[in-house]
Amino acid sequence: MNALRCCVVGTGPSGFYTAKYLLQANPSCIIDFVERLPTPFGLVRFGVAPDHQEVKSVQSDFIKVVEDHPNRVRFFGNVGLGRDVSLEELKKRYHAVVLAYGAEKDRELGLKGEKELVRSAREFVAWYNGHPDVPQSTCEEFERVVAGAKDCVVVGNGNVAIDCARILLAGREKLEMTDIAPRALTALVKSSIKTVTMVGRRGHPQASFTMKELRELTKLTDAKFVVKAEELDMGMTSASVEEIEKHRPIKRMDALLRETLGKTNDAEKILNMRFLLNPYEILTNNQGDLTGFRLERMSLSGVADNQTAQGTGKFEDVPCQMILRSVGYKGTSIDPSIPFDSKRGVVVTHDGGRIAHGLYAAGWLKRGPTGIVGTNIPDAHETVNCIIKDIPTFNLATTSLESDLMDFLIAKNVRVVDWNAYLKIHAAEIEQGQKSTPIRPRVKFETTEQLIKAAFGE
Ligand code: NAP
Repeated sequence: MNALRCCVVGTGPSGFYTAKYLLQANPSCIIDFVERLPTPFGLVRFGVAPDHQEVKSVQSDFIKVVEDHPNRVRFFGNVGLGRDVSLEELKKRYHAVVLAYGAEKDRELGLKGEKELVRSAREFVAWYNGHPDVPQSTCEEFERVVAGAKDCVVVGNGNVAIDCARILLAGREKLEMTDIAPRALTALVKSSIKTVTMVGRRGHPQASFTMKELRELTKLTDAKFVVKAEELDMGMTSASVEEIEKHRPIKRMDALLRETLGKTNDAEKILNMRFLLNPYEILTNNQGDLTGFRLERMSLSGVADNQTAQGTGKFEDVPCQMILRSVGYKGTSIDPSIPFDSKRGVVVTHDGGRIAHGLYAAGWLKRGPTGIVGTNIPDAHETVNCIIKDIPTFNLATTSLESDLMDFLIAKNVRVVDWNAYLKIHAAEIEQGQKSTPIRPRVKFETTEQLIKAAFGE
């Protein structure tokens, strides 16, 4: 009987949890990770905000998945599915292929001028986290904008919007203790941003951020946290009252927001949290520079847990020189043969994770961009259960697979960053952090070229 061979594409939390539970469920299986970047850990490295180092400690759990199974788990970094190897080539080499490469595109607002004048929060996060995909021109654009803008509007009421607002307002002392990308640290400590206004199209009971993140924002010392009592009251439809009564987290958030009313600190910067306002028009001067955002006052209608916002025809103009769009992410299809729901930006799966025989999905690519790191645990169990159920159909006793993936990649001259090579990147970044003043958890390399050089000691 041959061992089950599985390839997991993507090394964020969903990929690692899938591998972890598959190793447990099938004690002889062999797993190869394929990752298009030279480094593992996906959004733990490139999504989690740098001032949330404690969330990044989940990495030690993921490291154990590789290091506790030296003969069963391999890491193939710098190997892009669709770039260096096709899905067909993977399917010939593995009984099961799990797609766990997340959601790499943005939802959009559909406003005139959006492409030129609105920046994506996904790119902003990638910029401050040192993601090597961010083009130099975008890095320069963020540097220019944070150096020149005084007021920023962040559209969206989710945790990504909160992360962006907090990082935009953070002072040098907070940022320089983190692993924030050097390019962003330099720009943000000189930033001219004084006011960040977060806008949600629905009311506060419908906001999608979580209590922990909201509480952190209300306790900022770098900025005054301001909500308007009348906007909290506007959101209190009878359906909202029902939602607050029904859901403890919403009840706690309503109480917390009301507690902040009238409280203040002596910080110079301001964080406005606004509700029931929808982006309507991007305002510019005669030179085409961004000067403000026209927002439409919204009102809620519908039953509890399903309320939507409707325009009232009343408008408010908020002056701003920077707009960040933080209205959610979308997955993309990597191969035309994979059934894909382009409206939701997810692959179509059955039975909790099966795309087709021998092909599976996990994480945001399967369920959409929702949940925290831990949400990937039950999600990964579902996908693993699908694989385990399908093992009898893989004919492990008789099926022979094609040559090893490493041989295939070497023949194609792909510079594979294996686990030992990644450890060199890791060690070099930690060393750079140790040498910094003040000491930082790590100083990240920001380009693929630098990462590859560190991996191969060049
Ligand atoms: P999200 O939680 O889905 O929030 C998206 C926000 O955008 C919602 O407030 C939504 O409002 C709004 N929105 C969507 N379309 C809009 C439109 N056309 N116009 C105006 N507003 C619009 O997404 P996210 O913030 O990107 O976060 C993604 C996931 O990562 C979430 O599950 C989040 O919790 C997680 N995350 C967690 C952390 C953490 O744990 N610290 C940090 C970052 C991210 P409606 O509700 O009205 O649609």
